[in-house]
Amino acid sequence: MEHPENSDEYKGLAVNKGVEQPSTVNPYFKGRQFKRQPKLSVAEYVDGIVKGNVAVLSRAVTLVESLLPEDQAIAQEVIEKCLPYSGNSVRIGISGVPGAGKSTSIDSFGLHVLKDGGKLAVLAIDPSSERTKGSILGDKTRMERLSVHPSAFIRPSPSAGSLGGVARKTRETIVLCEAAGYDKIFVETVGVGQSETAVHSMVDFFLLIQLAGTGDELQGIKRGIMEMADGIIINKADGDNADKAELAARQFRNALHLFPATESGWMPQVLTYSGFYDLRIKEVWDMVWAYIDFVKKNGYFDVRRNEQAKYWMYESINESLKNGFYNSPVISAMLEQKEKQVLNGELTSFVAARQLLDLYKLQ
Ligand code: GDP
Repeated sequence: MEHPENSDEYKGLAVNKGVEQPSTVNPYFKGRQFKRQPKLSVAEYVDGIVKGNVAVLSRAVTLVESLLPEDQAIAQEVIEKCLPYSGNSVRIGISGVPGAGKSTSIDSFGLHVLKDGGKLAVLAIDPSSERTKGSILGDKTRMERLSVHPSAFIRPSPSAGSLGGVARKTRETIVLCEAAGYDKIFVETVGVGQSETAVHSMVDFFLLIQLAGTGDELQGIKRGIMEMADGIIINKADGDNADKAELAARQFRNALHLFPATESGWMPQVLTYSGFYDLRIKEVWDMVWAYIDFVKKNGYFDVRRNEQAKYWMYESINESLKNGFYNSPVISAMLEQKEKQVLNGELTSFVAARQLLDLYKLQ
């Protein structure tokens, strides 16, 4: 007879089978995630974009952001074909240090400008960003009301790369958005350095968000950035902070008076508002539209856009020359050696550079 200990019931380590668990992931979602979307032709991209198809627009922007040469080739063709449909928008740069209230403000600015209809695209230039595509959600929660607005398209910054590269992608994305019928474009950037210059080179109006309260507002902000601003707006002018904001506004106005006249003939204005409590949002936008009116009448609107077109031509040349040089196998092979020779005092920096450039030219 079998020993009773061998019986299943007797075993101390018997594990109950338990009940069948439901899948934690929606199988439909899982299936979709791995199913490759059929590739679109250039004509299909352009057609979808021009018809305002948001899914196609998003995919085209992804191509623009892609580093793969084959994606870039398609992206460039799509951009070129979209160019005739672009240009018909007002582009606004919005800059401010982290915490200045950019997202909060863009949320209320966006709702305000969409009251009169039209479509708004919110793009960003943030070269330091570690954010990946997964953060689209993060960006959407930053702009709660706008993200669910049917006429708003929000796209986070292309992921980290050189400032020039990230900015160029945002500039190209503007073309696609305009072709898709977005007549208002916001380009957000963190106001901590050179990204303002990049944003300034692609917008019609540069709005600088400032905060009051430290008593030395003017010291923390670089003169160059102030000179670029077409409007300075002091956020969080609410509650106890309202008086301080007014005081800061007065300081900024006084400082601006000392600056040389702007090329456009427009005197940059300083206003206070509250993005969070939706206070004086209309005043901010009355100022922006007054500027647009002013520069369209005096011709500066086109002058600035032409200058920008020129800037981007040279930027593209510079970027492409630089990439070509550093990605060239001949150069990569020699770069370290030349660097050592410079550090050892065997060559001057200039001679080393000359030798490398000559090598590159010989290819
Ligand atoms: P960002 O980093 O520039 O995008 O700034 P956020 O929009 O994330 O705002 C930073 C913080 O400031 C958040 O806690 C906001 O709630 C707060 N904030 C933004 N705008 C206002 C405002 O108008 N008034 C007040 N009191 N707080 C604000």
